[in-house]
Amino acid sequence: LIRFDNVTKRFGKNTVLDDLCFSVRPGKHVTLIGPSGSGKTTILRLLMTLVKPDEGVITINGDRLFPADSKHVREVRKNIGMVFQQFNLFPNMNVLRNVTEAPVKVLGLSKDEAEERGRELLDLVGLGDRCGAKPTQLSGGQQQRVAIARALAMRPKILLLDEVTSALDPELVAGVLDVLRDIARTTDITMLCVTHEMNFARDISDDVLMFDAGKVIESGPPEKIFSEPEHERTREFLGAVL
Ligand code: ATP
Repeated sequence: LIRFDNVTKRFGKNTVLDDLCFSVRPGKHVTLIGPSGSGKTTILRLLMTLVKPDEGVITINGDRLFPADSKHVREVRKNIGMVFQQFNLFPNMNVLRNVTEAPVKVLGLSKDEAEERGRELLDLVGLGDRCGAKPTQLSGGQQQRVAIARALAMRPKILLLDEVTSALDPELVAGVLDVLRDIARTTDITMLCVTHEMNFARDISDDVLMFDAGKVIESGPPEKIFSEPEHERTREFLGAVL
């Protein structure tokens, strides 16, 4: 269970998250939508402990991420994987090594174990035949699928996806979203997605959270949010993006 209790985050005078409260139950797929600058990416960055809140409490299964329960933070962090808009692959390593590096270094898997699992994951994302390629030899969509395999290789219980298709050419988007749909359908990983792909959000989400000015202004199952939004800001936002 991910819980944000009264979380406030400011950058200088800019209050990006404002007394934010929400929770995500294990195994659920939750999509964060809302206008640019409403604080969605900041939520994922807080969970990755890349930034700290100014106020409030963030817990995962009761373990405090903030204020830091320092003994636990590293362990808690190990359960969280993230895929970024820019794929951030290691350019000097081949595809398989990109996927095996962290399991060997951080989880302590043997090279053989990590490679066996890495090949399975690359198969899963449709790249089993590109293990030896360097990232620059792949299309953006293929690189993003490697990044997804790399995140899964750490066996995360929580997967954070930050606009993972925004940097892709339109014809490459569907392949990446199909992989994520498969993962959502076939695993029990909790997923938190920031996305502008509303059809994808509708397909995979148990719940959609609509953000505006650092707060959740409306939440519910996708059928409700997309078909009968209650809030005027949600109607405006969906009117602009759908
Ligand atoms: P987008 O859809 O454009 O990515 P978002 O809802 O994800 O938007 P965030 O990226 O969370 O929004 O950013 C929220 C606000 O915080 C923005 O006004 C942004 O300029 C500001 N911000 C984010 N990171 C920093 C930082 N490191 N330093 C200063 N301001 C920041």
